[in-house]
Parts: sequence; structure tokens; C-alpha cells
Amino acid sequence: MKKSKYQVLLYYKYVTIDIPEKVREEQRKLCQSLNLKGRIIVASEGINGTVEGLTHDTEKYIAAMEKSEYFKGIHFKKSAGTGDAFPKLSVKARKEVVTAHLLDLNPNEVTGAYITADQLHAWFESKKEFYIVDMRNDYEYISGHFEGFIPSGLHNFFDLADVLPKIAHLKDKTIVTVCTGGIRCEKASGFLVTNGFKDVYQLQDGIQTYMEKYPNKHFKGKLYVFDNRLTLGFNTESPDHEVVGTCYYCGVASDTYVNCHYDLCHYHHISCANCLDSETGLAFCKPECKENYIKIQKPREEAKKQNRSRASFTS
Ligand SMILES: [Zn+2]
Ligand SMILES: [Zn+2]
Repeated sequence: MKKSKYQVLLYYKYVTIDIPEKVREEQRKLCQSLNLKGRIIVASEGINGTVEGLTHDTEKYIAAMEKSEYFKGIHFKKSAGTGDAFPKLSVKARKEVVTAHLLDLNPNEVTGAYITADQLHAWFESKKEFYIVDMRNDYEYISGHFEGFIPSGLHNFFDLADVLPKIAHLKDKTIVTVCTGGIRCEKASGFLVTNGFKDVYQLQDGIQTYMEKYPNKHFKGKLYVFDNRLTLGFNTESPDHEVVGTCYYCGVASDTYVNCHYDLCHYHHISCANCLDSETGLAFCKPECKENYIKIQKPREEAKKQNRSRASFTS
């Protein structure tokens, strides 16, 4: 892969933080001093972040984190940035680092056993009996997923309990939970353990780490990411790379995510270029959304534009 000027870091750590608001301010200052943009959530249970900056600045960030009592030992997942993966820096203190509504579940006390990318790869190659349960949201695994995976069926991670009936038949089987970078699995796997599942593993450091080590192997397609890049692939120029996503409308292979352009809908889905609306070039997930857009949203947008040009004319 070409060395990129920009780098995106994805990381988390479950660690007890006494005053999250204080750490929030320190994080904000640190990121501002290094011109990093992205999203960081600090809670009394830990930290969850994804930031982008010039590669040498992100490396300085890692070095600063390594000096922190709370944050040393974090495994930072790195990928090529674009320079505008994030519009701004947002650092927040919240109750949970990932909204799961599972405040009493402490991954430092109960969680699934860790399986590394290497071990998981060996399990695939040896055809061992195990079941991948993908803990990501439904729209995420459309563009890429492990072979034979069981979809969580979730649209929001905090509906985690809805997974239980879907996998009840696997209570005595070997399960491996997977997610983007590993943070959701810390709680999801612990949740399965507390609900009586006997042999629960979690993919350590997530799908991104597996893909980077074993591009185009047992994880097919691209990894959905929560920034402007939308998806991430390693060695995608290789003939072994497969596009596994399909257009929501016509079913052809595509992994281009769009939002329905109607503001009150914003349905997130994959569309090939041919299936964008021919008149406007925009995505509308259903005819009503286009109708509403034309009737309500478009006149408002045009009025705003006119006001703006008038204002600039008079100033
Ligand atoms: Zn299409
Ligand atoms: Zn829509």
C-alpha cells in the first residue's frame, strides 16, 4: 500500500477513570495541539476514540498516550487517512464508551476469551467447528463480512438482547464474536457469557486487525467505518479482492454507501451509480422520499440559497 500522508487511529481501553471530565479536557488539548480531528468518548469505564491527522502527529499522540497512567498499553489500529475523514474534533464525556445500556457489565471482570487474528485464521484454515457472530449493525456487514457469519440482526448495538434468541441453538458451541476494532465485543461477549453461553471468544483488536494481516482471506469485502471514508480495505487492488456488497435497488455488486437525501429519512444504504435518481442525481430510498424532498425540502433549500445570495449582494 502507498504510504499515506494522513493516518487514522482507532483505539479503546476499558479502564476506570475517576474524573472523565478532566480527562476529556486533557484529550481535547492534546488533540488540538497535534491538529487531530475525530471523535473521542471518555467515560468512567474507559476511552473510545478514532482520530485522524498527519502521520507523524498521530504517532506523537500514541507516544503521549503511552506516557499516561490510564492509557498505556493501548493497541492502536492504524489505517490510511484522507485528510478529511472527520469534519472536526469532538471530545465528549459520556456514561458509556459505546452505548450498550450495560453499565454493570465490566469487561475487566467478565468478557469472552480473546482469540487473536492469527488463531482465528488457523481455525478457518483447519475447518474447526465454530460460529462467527457479527456484533455490528445490519448496515455495516453488507459491505464486508466473514465467511459463514451469523448476522447480529441489530440496527443499534444497545438492542443487544435481541441477539439471544437468534443464537440460542449455539449455547454449547464455540462462538467467536467480531466487530470493527474490538470494543463492542468486550461487552457483547461478556453479555453472552452471563447469559449462559459456554464457549465464547472475541476477536482481539477486531476485524480491522484480521483484515490487515490477512487481506482478502476469510473476511470478504470491505470494512465499514464510522467516518467519511465509509469503508476500508487492505490490498483491494488484488484480483483476490471481492466486492460483496450489493446495490439496495438492483442487486449488482457495489460497496458505495449513500444516505437517502430526504432529511427526515436519511436511510443509510448501498447504491450503485445507475440507481441514483436520474433527474437529481441524488439517492432516495423510496418514491415517497423523493416526493417529500421535492415538495418540502427543495423549496426550503432554494429559499435559503436566495437569501444567502441577497445577503452577500447587500454586504
Ligand atoms: Zn443499482
Ligand atoms: Zn428515504
